[in-house]
Amino acid sequence: EVILEAKHVTRRFPASGGRTLVANNDINLKFYKGKTLGLVGESGCGKSTFMRFLVSLDTPSEGEILYRGKDITKLKGEELRQNRQHIQMVFQDPTSSFNPKMKIRDIVCEPLLNFNRIKKSEMDAACRRLLEMVELPGEFADRYPHNMSGGQRQRVAIARALALEPEILILDEATSALDVSVQQTIIELIVKLQKEKNITIGFICHDISLIQSCSHEVAVMYLGNVVEVLPAEDLAEHAVHPYTRALIGSIFDIGMDFSKPIEEIKGEAPSPLDVPAGCPFRGRCPKAVDRCAAEKPKLHQVGADHEVACHLFDKEDK
Ligand code: SF4
Ligand code: MG
Repeated sequence: EVILEAKHVTRRFPASGGRTLVANNDINLKFYKGKTLGLVGESGCGKSTFMRFLVSLDTPSEGEILYRGKDITKLKGEELRQNRQHIQMVFQDPTSSFNPKMKIRDIVCEPLLNFNRIKKSEMDAACRRLLEMVELPGEFADRYPHNMSGGQRQRVAIARALALEPEILILDEATSALDVSVQQTIIELIVKLQKEKNITIGFICHDISLIQSCSHEVAVMYLGNVVEVLPAEDLAEHAVHPYTRALIGSIFDIGMDFSKPIEEIKGEAPSPLDVPAGCPFRGRCPKAVDRCAAEKPKLHQVGADHEVACHLFDKEDK
């Protein structure tokens, strides 16, 4: 069941010298009930820009975001406010989104009070319940954010984001600032809560192995474009886009048995202001051919749940 769908989402930002930065270029993605869509790519590829539309922190220049069939990019005022209950977000660094003068109780319960879900007298019980949900002791309600570890603060951020029982949770590099062992426990918690509550998750991360471990489906972004979409379990073996292969090759153990050759990734991603004509990846692509400069590859189906934007896998008009 598709509950959230991005259709032809494009976002342009004006840049210096009258230039235009295209941060998102015709993005089409679907989020399925109770599943995780992982969005992976290097920093600056437009993943965070895209996810911000889902939580109404920004609106696209073009395109629609349909939540249960309704375009949320057009919402205003009270309707927009009400819609925020359904789609919540956790950021990389909770300290920057928490007021350091507020106790954990007030931080966690703030959304519940804002939407009149509880009375002030019910805060203690509500906070305890939410802290227990994220496996923190109820006594933490009286602490301040700076008296907690990074992992504990991220649990608080998750408790706060889930307080309103949203249908969709967006995690933007939510574990990237944590030690690997702490990262793992937070991922396990998220996976457990997803199963219990049937939450739909959008997981943004630059680490493809982490994305693979906790997503059902993976979308790979490059310079504002989605270049490949496929089931997470197929990633290592069946991903074919030269950029995806490069990401995989740069992360996974060499001991793994790949059916496809692994290419070393060449150079740095160009600035999103200097996206080349034709295929955006062609400047770094080891397999580029003449057609790649002349024509931009479109995302098209290469398998049942597998889409790729690369001329090498474009079976039509070759
Ligand atoms: Fe490489 Fe060409 Fe495919 Fe782009 S379209 S990824 S340049 S082979
Ligand atoms: Mg980001």
